[in-house]
Amino acid sequence: MNQYWSARARALTPYVPGEQPRDRKFIKLNTNENPYPPSPMALAAIREAACDTLRLYPDPDCTTLRELLGATYGLKPSRVFVGNGSDEVLAMCFQAFFDPDRPILFADITYSFYPVYADLYGLTYREVPLDEHFALPLEPFLEPNGGVVIANPNAPTGRELSLCGIRAILEANPGAVVVVDEAYVDFGAHSAVELIDRYPNLVVVQTMSKSRSLAGLRVGFAMGNEELIAALNCVKNSFNSYTLDRLALAGAEGALRDRDYLRATSMKIQNTRECTAAHLKKLGFVVTDSAANFLFVSHPDVPAKELLDGLRQRGILVRWWDKPRIRDYLRITVGTDQEMQALCVAMAELVGEK
Ligand code: PMP
Repeated sequence: MNQYWSARARALTPYVPGEQPRDRKFIKLNTNENPYPPSPMALAAIREAACDTLRLYPDPDCTTLRELLGATYGLKPSRVFVGNGSDEVLAMCFQAFFDPDRPILFADITYSFYPVYADLYGLTYREVPLDEHFALPLEPFLEPNGGVVIANPNAPTGRELSLCGIRAILEANPGAVVVVDEAYVDFGAHSAVELIDRYPNLVVVQTMSKSRSLAGLRVGFAMGNEELIAALNCVKNSFNSYTLDRLALAGAEGALRDRDYLRATSMKIQNTRECTAAHLKKLGFVVTDSAANFLFVSHPDVPAKELLDGLRQRGILVRWWDKPRIRDYLRITVGTDQEMQALCVAMAELVGEK
């Protein structure tokens, strides 16, 4: 940091993404990536798009991709917005829907990018404490506020809030936008997309990074009524006309055309999640109910930091935060059956050593 930094830049505390190791091969269970490759249809489409047309700019309106997303989720393309990963889409939601004079509400334990965006755009926010079981209490969200952001299922806990709860929040806040971040919804949770017709203040954000195995391609999307999508387009077109490149458009379109592949890989991950949860419980772990592609676990006898380090020594990366309330927990991405067996063997050693 030096004299040339703006006051805004000096005041920022950026988000820290999970480690992407370059030096050695780890079993990587730290960033909620999908252990299975992208659909062959996505890869074929990317290969086909890697051709001389790359000299031309991509479609700034992402028309074909929005049409496919609309067909997939039963919405008109005018109700769909796409961006460079759902992180970018979420950032644009913060700019498009929230003002500094009224605080935004989100949970105290949730995706740690939300406070970063709020600070970046000079917004105020209030963190609502989850209860002792990491459930979201509804009452604080029914008070007047400047907007709501809910990760559902939540990260890093994996807990799902029912659609009934989401509806209560939408109904109590007709004058504010409710953003539901469904990054992990395809692993067995219920999507709020079906509520879009009824609630003009609802925005649902999803990503191709997790269930469609395309974290490296950077494609996210938002769905909501036309006025909200117009606000997102207004922000986007004041920033960058071409947020998605030709390869990303082609790959995302290919992935959306392969619904069977999504269903099969998502089922596989859900089965592996349940087997791993049962195994870890047998080892004495407390395992939070998860509707996502990760588990949030704690052991009564062994500190999570010790487990984190022990796993790393055994070639396994998981995620830990040195933060109040969750210091005793690890977030473990669900990998292949083989990877999770290796994790359980390592965990048995680590808790058995006590
Ligand atoms: N929302 C949540 C809750 C997440 O955990 C993540 C992944 N870190 C994202 C959004 C962003 O994912 P992406 O930008 O890859 O779409």
